[in-house]
Amino acid sequence: MAEPELDLGKKYDAVIIGSGAAGGMAAHVLTSHGLQVLLLEAGKKLNIEQELRSMEWPYDNAHRGGLPPGSHALNHNEYTIRRPPYGPGFEKSKSLYSYIGSTDYMKNIVVNERDNPYTGTNYAWVRARCLGGKTNIWGRLALRLSDYDFKAKDRDGYGENWPLSYSDIAPYYDKVDLYLGITGVKENLPYLPDSLFQRPTKLNCAEVTLKQGIQKMGRVLTQYRAGVTTDGLKHNKYRSRCYGRGACSRKGGCDIHAAFDSPTGLIYPAMDTGNLTLRTNSVAREITVDPQTGKASGVHFTDSETMKDYTVRGKTVIVAASTLESARLLLLSKSRLYPKGLANSSGHVGHNFCEHIMGPHVAGQATDLVGKPPTLDDGRPGSFYLTRFRNLAEKHPKFIRGYGFEGGSGSGMFPPGTDSPGFGASFKEEIRRNQGSYISMGAFGEVLSRYENFVDLDPVVKDKWGIPALRFHYKFGDNEHHMAADMKETAQEMFEAAGFKIIFVSDRVLTEGWSIHELGTARMGDDPKTSVLNQFQQSHDVKNLFVVDGSAFVSASCQNPTWTIMALCWRSCDYLADQLAKNDL
Ligand SMILES: Cc1cc2nc3c(=O)[nH]c(=O)nc-3n(C[C@H](O)[C@H](O)[C@H](O)COP(=O)(O)OP(=O)(O)OC[C@H]3O[C@@H](n4cnc5c(N)ncnc54)[C@H](O)[C@@H]3O)c2cc1C
Ligand code: SF4
Repeated sequence: MAEPELDLGKKYDAVIIGSGAAGGMAAHVLTSHGLQVLLLEAGKKLNIEQELRSMEWPYDNAHRGGLPPGSHALNHNEYTIRRPPYGPGFEKSKSLYSYIGSTDYMKNIVVNERDNPYTGTNYAWVRARCLGGKTNIWGRLALRLSDYDFKAKDRDGYGENWPLSYSDIAPYYDKVDLYLGITGVKENLPYLPDSLFQRPTKLNCAEVTLKQGIQKMGRVLTQYRAGVTTDGLKHNKYRSRCYGRGACSRKGGCDIHAAFDSPTGLIYPAMDTGNLTLRTNSVAREITVDPQTGKASGVHFTDSETMKDYTVRGKTVIVAASTLESARLLLLSKSRLYPKGLANSSGHVGHNFCEHIMGPHVAGQATDLVGKPPTLDDGRPGSFYLTRFRNLAEKHPKFIRGYGFEGGSGSGMFPPGTDSPGFGASFKEEIRRNQGSYISMGAFGEVLSRYENFVDLDPVVKDKWGIPALRFHYKFGDNEHHMAADMKETAQEMFEAAGFKIIFVSDRVLTEGWSIHELGTARMGDDPKTSVLNQFQQSHDVKNLFVVDGSAFVSASCQNPTWTIMALCWRSCDYLADQLAKNDL
């Protein structure tokens, strides 16, 4: 693989900040247009296969897969009781991680909270600072949005419509499907458009029972739509097809890269064009501006290890540091011309912050499967998705928008129930009898985009590199709490309709941030007074500045965002390349 060195004397066609889903996609699209691109990534390039070790059994790991001594991952209670920054109070742990960093496989991927503090309201902020960002460990549920989302205001009067329609983005969803691979089954649902799917996985017995049980209620359960290649991708030598080895159920990525991750899916192929320069350990701290033209001129960054500062130059700058980090960077890039931060004449940078609410869930048992012969259900990169059903044809009296459920059944790497009381032969017999009969699911719902939910810069607290930390002002509102109560009711009602024995139902809402789907802090729109970007994720204020990650979302939808982030980014980068060729940036 060609790895050109950073050239400080060169003016790159594009400087991209961040190498996750958005930054990787920008690198792929722009290098395929023949542009000379520099990609800056704050984290390290890890030997990722060595980190993930997808085939390792817990008994082969020194800590049974858990964190080594001296490390701690925050749990739900700690997020609830303590206020950020989360470092103080955990002095005994040298390394402190977000809740997702609770395994040995994640410890070098997610950030150490001590080096990367934030302040304000409680928030479980999950960050992965390494090449590929969060795509190394994402859950791979790859869903499209529809005009039920893009034009949601037309349906219920709330918020803003997106400045584009499904027909604008559909060709780009197709491109993403074909380039990266996705598995699933066509359902022809207007509110959850189908992808161009590769070979689907199979539902198991309890899942089919649930699917059939809820059909009479007009509700739809479908195979997990996973951003995983099940047939393989002839054009990509870095990725293998999925062999259904089942390690998807363990937190941590796929070490044969059947599951999409940005390095093997996008960045390495982009490097093969010879047009991409990658610099890791490069923490962007400011987007520089030409005082004569008001345009972005480049990026000022610090080497994360040597602490040395550099400035690189670009004809265009593409911000893709993830929703919250991108907002932070725009706010940090204050100058005489842009005293409120870059691209922020509207005052909307950091605002309209939205995501998904989660927590309510149900667990049950298909009692007719108890005592049946064992099945092998773990060879799948995901189980099922139960699609949105609220506020489609009818209006719910207590809340607007919708939610869907992710769930699964069957025997994974270990059969469920091994944590129940008991020991010895009778315990083993009990586990064997029940294996394959348990089923559970949890909901993800749309959090409304609200101006008063926002992030700004903390005036005092700084990170390890002396950069002001982000401060949260963010809380779920009444709509979300009414929705969460309904999630619990409908989860139970659907399990009952399927004839399952209910074991547990919860309406507990998890801390803000738990869904890891943060969105909306630099939203798109047609009006520069109320939005930051136009429909091509181009700043209204600074023509050669693009923000191509989830910060551009106008609303959160209840569908997971990553496939949409990449489709939008592809569309915007095609536009950027076209405008640059016309000398119009
Ligand atoms: C455990 C888990 C499960 C998930 N499951 C799903 C799912 O099932 N479906 C779904 O759609 N999404 C899921 N997500 C979310 C998904 O990972 C994100 O939507 C996606 O990665 C966002 O891409 P991004 O490029 O915006 O950000 P990231 O992937 O976070 O990449 C941002 C990159 O920018 C870098 N960066 C940040 N600041 C700077 C700076 N100042 N200078 C230079 N570089 C910087 C970071 O180090 C990082 O590498 C999940 C995430 C996690 C962690
Ligand atoms: S099941 Fe497939 S996608 Fe998941 S870890 Fe295994 S090979 Fe990778």
